[in-house]
Amino acid sequence: MNVAAPGNGLPVVAVVGRPNVGKSSLVNRVLGRREAIVQEMPGVTRDRHGFVAEWGGREFEIVDTGGLEPGADGLDALVVEQAEAAIATADVIVLVVDAAAGIGEDDLLVADTLRRAGKPVVVAANKVDDPRDEPAAATFYRLGLGDPQPLSALHGRGSGDWLDAVIARLPEVRARPADAWASIAIIGRPNVGKSSTLNALLGSERAIVDAAPGTTRDPVDSYVAAMEGRVLRIVDTAGMRRQVQLKDCLEYFGWLRSRRVLQRVDGVLLVVDAREGVTGHDQRIAQDVVEAGRACVIVLNKWDLVPRDAMERTWLERDSGNRLRWLEWTSRVRVSALTRRGVGRLVPAVTSAIESHRRRLPTSVVNDIIGAAQVRRPHPRSGGKSVRVLYAVQASAAPPLFVLFTTGRLDTAYVRYLENTVRAEAGFEGTPLKWQVRQRARRRL
Ligand code: GDP
Repeated sequence: MNVAAPGNGLPVVAVVGRPNVGKSSLVNRVLGRREAIVQEMPGVTRDRHGFVAEWGGREFEIVDTGGLEPGADGLDALVVEQAEAAIATADVIVLVVDAAAGIGEDDLLVADTLRRAGKPVVVAANKVDDPRDEPAAATFYRLGLGDPQPLSALHGRGSGDWLDAVIARLPEVRARPADAWASIAIIGRPNVGKSSTLNALLGSERAIVDAAPGTTRDPVDSYVAAMEGRVLRIVDTAGMRRQVQLKDCLEYFGWLRSRRVLQRVDGVLLVVDAREGVTGHDQRIAQDVVEAGRACVIVLNKWDLVPRDAMERTWLERDSGNRLRWLEWTSRVRVSALTRRGVGRLVPAVTSAIESHRRRLPTSVVNDIIGAAQVRRPHPRSGGKSVRVLYAVQASAAPPLFVLFTTGRLDTAYVRYLENTVRAEAGFEGTPLKWQVRQRARRRL
């Protein structure tokens, strides 16, 4: 079992279960080291841990959700909260139960929540230190979550079979053509220079001209080389060429949507005419890009035509900057598709935007950042009550989605503050971030 550095976009395995069933010991067993803190005391607050692990050639992040603090609502609410956090964020959930102790109320409660969510679950019946104890594990069939895996986190018995069961349930890696690392589209209003930008890219040394017969490449797509041997596919070249005739912006929006261009790519080069600055129509396209959650680089084209006058340039930049204030996270590249100036910066810019798009911050890092942000600037009190984020996770990547588990409604301005903090500390240039707020359910004992 190797422990690797935190990776990008790895599937997440969340470990849930009531206190003292051996969640941390199990995570330790997976990691082969005593990273996670093993707490003997039930219900004691622990740190949250997300670690990258590997088994059978598959890498995944394993998260011990045991770090949730029991609130005033008691332990049963706590385990349900853990389960909800896991449901929101994990690809596979491991429910750890104590075979020696038998089925408890909490187990039934959490199993119920998990069953309804329909996510893949593996029941790990822990503390089966002796083969003779295996029948005790079998009683957990009653949870309705399939074959319980008998194991001993302490001695390691059965943990190989259990891990096999876990990786068998990991999602398939999203299929991409073997030769393309990512897909992009060049979009923008008619006449801003999309086709010219494409031609400049294809006329550059990055172009991959490979028309070997029998390859499965779609003839309307083109390919360019990015760093580290990666290949970028530029989709829908034919559509883009045809749409030179789409002289009208509205017609262009319709085309963009009907072809579902944004759904088919990882990122876009959004071309604008630098002389005109960012127009309302450009903003509208940008809005679509954000909604679709795609990586984005803004290409300020026709830079050769921008007046040399320094005052005028400053004014243009400031005006465009204002219109793109809500897109502060995009990178901007000034180019002239005509003279090819600056065109060499496009592929590196879009590659790094897509890297941000696919990034996944380990849960411990997210919680550290959000926790510190709350200390620096707590959420304003609402109706006399304090509102807190209890737990935060990056639920998925591409685009990065953060889920905040809170004690109450969060102000939009506060979520923006948290986003700015995450960006300041962790980057994510070039990708929109999505945020979801889940209020902790108030359950009666
Ligand atoms: P599209 O409709 O967005 O694909 O735009 P085109 O690529 O067809 O370009 C529209 C017009 O702008 C053409 O006449 C191009 O020659 C011209 N054009 C495109 N890029 C540049 C540039 O960087 N500088 C200048 N001066 N003209 C450009």
